[in-house]
Amino acid sequence: MENCESSQSVRVAVNIRPLVTPELLVGCTDCITVYPAQKQVQIGSHAFTFDNIFGSKGCPSSSIFDECVAPLVDALFHGYNGTVLAYGQTGSGKTYTMGTNYNGEEHRSAVIPKVMDTIFSKAETLKESTEFLIRVSFIEIFKEEVFDLLDPKTTGPARVPIQIRERVNGGITLAGVTEAEVRTKEEMASFLLQGSLCRATGSTNMNSQSSRSHAIFTISMEQRTITHSSAGDDVGDDVLIAKLHLVDLAGSERKANRCRWDTLTGSLVLFPPPKTCIHINKGLLALGNVISALGDDKKRKEGGHVPYRDSKLTRILQARMSSHLLSRCLLMRRQDPFTMMNCHSLQLCISLSH
Ligand code: ADP
Ligand code: MG
Repeated sequence: MENCESSQSVRVAVNIRPLVTPELLVGCTDCITVYPAQKQVQIGSHAFTFDNIFGSKGCPSSSIFDECVAPLVDALFHGYNGTVLAYGQTGSGKTYTMGTNYNGEEHRSAVIPKVMDTIFSKAETLKESTEFLIRVSFIEIFKEEVFDLLDPKTTGPARVPIQIRERVNGGITLAGVTEAEVRTKEEMASFLLQGSLCRATGSTNMNSQSSRSHAIFTISMEQRTITHSSAGDDVGDDVLIAKLHLVDLAGSERKANRCRWDTLTGSLVLFPPPKTCIHINKGLLALGNVISALGDDKKRKEGGHVPYRDSKLTRILQARMSSHLLSRCLLMRRQDPFTMMNCHSLQLCISLSH
């Protein structure tokens, strides 16, 4: 945004989903007290403060998209990169909120479908003065391997992971990843649909795999301003390039939990075996460590180490999480949302503009 060091460069919102039928059937009740004016939620004796709280009585009726994501879409048109992360336990509503289980009809109000609508309606209003080149990619990180959800060859039981390559300038590329050019929101939606289906069918046990993988839907946008010379020729070559990563993170449940409530099947299921657990934790743990390091004022001033390389997730997001976005990380670190938020119906939506 105009001022990347401003408090708005990182925003942390919490979304409280309603109790779902299987929970109501076994008599679950809400255990969260919300103080909308203080933007605080209390669970037991712990209180957490956020930029926004959604989904509870007394909270504003505006949506996560309006408050946390629309500003990033605006910023994308000004050439700023953005990242939206959905974090929470399995069953807390991350996929529902982001729309990474898109089936073409439901969840039109989820984050990604709304991003698509907004991008194309905005581009339409600018088309006289700007040419757009919009591309999408959709990947999944499962057990520290990266899969291209838009490439049929890399899906299915025998799927082959794609490699991360480091460029000379330190940037990261995903070797051979599909970057599909899209001209309309319907085309973009078809790739979201294709990737969502691949994610769902990529394993024999769909629920367990999708809850253990990170899904990243990336929209990259190149804008070329069309300027005309006095003779009316197109002489424009002013190009802006920016990316928006929309991330549905793996479930944040801890290894110590022996079982969890599966809201989809309405049953208790055993927690994933330790090997998978270690891999999940690697991505989420590394993400927590990166954010902590970015938020450590002292370390930052001394040019301290930020452990991006500790997981595929943080390596891929590295370019987007540069050390600009720091002031609010401090606040996040104090609250430690990565280790303390451990409630079935809460998701965090973390949006970063940089
Ligand atoms: P996660 O991706 O965090 O594991 P899901 O998005 O799959 O969780 O959501 C778990 C269940 O809760 C699903 O049945 C989903 O339809 C339901 N759900 C999630 N958020 C909401 C919401 N805001 N309103 C109603 N149902 C929701
Ligand atoms: Mg999910």
